[in-house]
Amino acid sequence: MSSTRDASPSVIDRDGLQRLLDALKRSGFAVVGPRVRDGAIVYAPLARVDELPQGWTDLQDGGSYTLVRRTDAALFGYAVGPNSWKQFLHPARELLWEVRRDPSGVLAFEAPPPDTSRYAFIGVRACELQAIAVQDRVFMGGPFEDAAYACRRHHAFIVAINCGSPAGTCFCASMQSGPQARAGFDLALTEVLDGARHRFVVTVGSDAGAAVLTQIEAQPADAADREAEGMVLARSAGAMGRTLRTDGLRELLQAKLEHPRWAEVGERCLQCGNCTMVCPTCFCHTVEDQSDLLGEHAQRVRLWDSCFTLDFSYVHGGSVRHGGAARYRQWMTHKLANWIDQFGTSGCVGCGRCITWCPVGIDITAEAAAMQDGGASRGQGDA
Ligand code: SF4
Ligand code: SF4
Repeated sequence: MSSTRDASPSVIDRDGLQRLLDALKRSGFAVVGPRVRDGAIVYAPLARVDELPQGWTDLQDGGSYTLVRRTDAALFGYAVGPNSWKQFLHPARELLWEVRRDPSGVLAFEAPPPDTSRYAFIGVRACELQAIAVQDRVFMGGPFEDAAYACRRHHAFIVAINCGSPAGTCFCASMQSGPQARAGFDLALTEVLDGARHRFVVTVGSDAGAAVLTQIEAQPADAADREAEGMVLARSAGAMGRTLRTDGLRELLQAKLEHPRWAEVGERCLQCGNCTMVCPTCFCHTVEDQSDLLGEHAQRVRLWDSCFTLDFSYVHGGSVRHGGAARYRQWMTHKLANWIDQFGTSGCVGCGRCITWCPVGIDITAEAAAMQDGGASRGQGDA
């Protein structure tokens, strides 16, 4: 995959979108996209356009997520749900190796077979593209590449969707990660509904994307299509539910490690780890050995972990972060400050999931604002 190419946009209608899904399936991809399940929009196998969340949108606020009906038939008229694409690229449970004892007592160690999954992700938001780029840096950008992640990542085909309906907890515009997809996709779509016309303006981002586009009878986009696309993007940029002031934030957080606000947020935090599970950039994990009762089979697995658990900071005899204040401080200063030292970029892409899915509505933008205002302000979104 390469970054955005200098190619004229095309346009497809709803039938063209079905042809795109069919073409990806014919090419051997496991197509995954947004679907309504259990009262939320999640990412799941997708075969047909009519399985998309047509006419649904999501109302989001601190600790609150509700699906409601739209007044139109938009297929991508929502923001993001509790899932992110990391569940496919960096799954919550990954087998590292296993060992079996044969009848003569000899132990045989086996590595798992290479993961040859070829995913086509449909409906990836700009903030999520940025989150994937962040995880790429973690798993593939250092001296030790994670082979399983790299294999899945290199084989993935990404169809981005420019965001037309930011949620109340979104702040990608503050993080310069959205709402427009600028790089890291194979194809990027903008959904346009004017009157009876329902269409998608398509931008090509890679050779693979260009090759797929030739199979689906796309038409060249005209001036009206491009103007409509521009209006969708301009509207979205002005409709973010949250903002975050990033100027000087890294230095401020690193200088305020003893600020009383940490104790205050620590009192409210349940230390449930929801924020880290839903965050598309959080990558922390643990390694466990699991065996059967007979001692004939054992396996070592990698599992998602969270800096909000007691065990996470356990070092020879005890945990170094005992309560919510220390753990929230660790998480937030890592996201917004120390991540920049470590990886050269923020660990937050402004998707808002940690705000929506925090059961007590703790809001990273409000916590940052409180620090910036000297602790006097509760900031936006605080109850
Ligand atoms: S810290 Fe929160 S808003 Fe930022 S990327 Fe993670 S879940 Fe999204
Ligand atoms: S900040 Fe919210 S989601 Fe995160 S651990 Fe605390 S209570 Fe749970």
